[in-house]
Amino acid sequence: EEQLPKYYRVLLLGAEGVGKSSIINQFMTSEFLGGGNFNISQSEDDRTVTLQVDGEETTLEFVQSEDFQENMENLSLDAFVVVFSTTDRISFDQAVEVLKQLREEVGAHKAIILVGNKADLARKRMIPADEGRSAADGYDCKYIETSAALNHRVDELLVGIHKQISLKCQSI
Ligand code: GDP
Repeated sequence: EEQLPKYYRVLLLGAEGVGKSSIINQFMTSEFLGGGNFNISQSEDDRTVTLQVDGEETTLEFVQSEDFQENMENLSLDAFVVVFSTTDRISFDQAVEVLKQLREEVGAHKAIILVGNKADLARKRMIPADEGRSAADGYDCKYIETSAALNHRVDELLVGIHKQISLKCQSI
């Protein structure tokens, strides 16, 4: 029996310079091979990543924006990745404000992930991991720290996005 491929649109939000483009670029060039029956393929032109997990195919299309308000009426979005830089307190405060507004606008049934990027810049860190995690907890979001520059934990973010979408879609 043939299964229809699932297609989801994922919006990356966050202040300019936090690393949204760098993260998406890493998604586009990832050669990640998870355990078991896991496969990845990408299409650079339409910025999609297709994951095959246990024979089930899911395509994620990535879009990015610095303007939160502009995108809120866009009902075709399935998940939100809110990015800040762990070296930039202003970008964190903005991200927390976006989480708050997002939960108000989209309700509980959409995947939202908070990402603290630039974790490689340890000496410049301004936001402790615990502070990022507790902000995410407060809005029922996952928290992950990445380094797009070093391609550290970017594959985990990709898999996490897929997992959160699956969980939220089951709970509707
Ligand atoms: P965007 O405006 O959010 O799309 O941010 P960009 O992806 O264009 O990144 C802004 C700058 O930060 C660029 O110079 C990137 O090379 C740099 N950058 C992005 N991610 C990281 C990271 O994880 N660590 C470090 N050290 N630099 C990063």
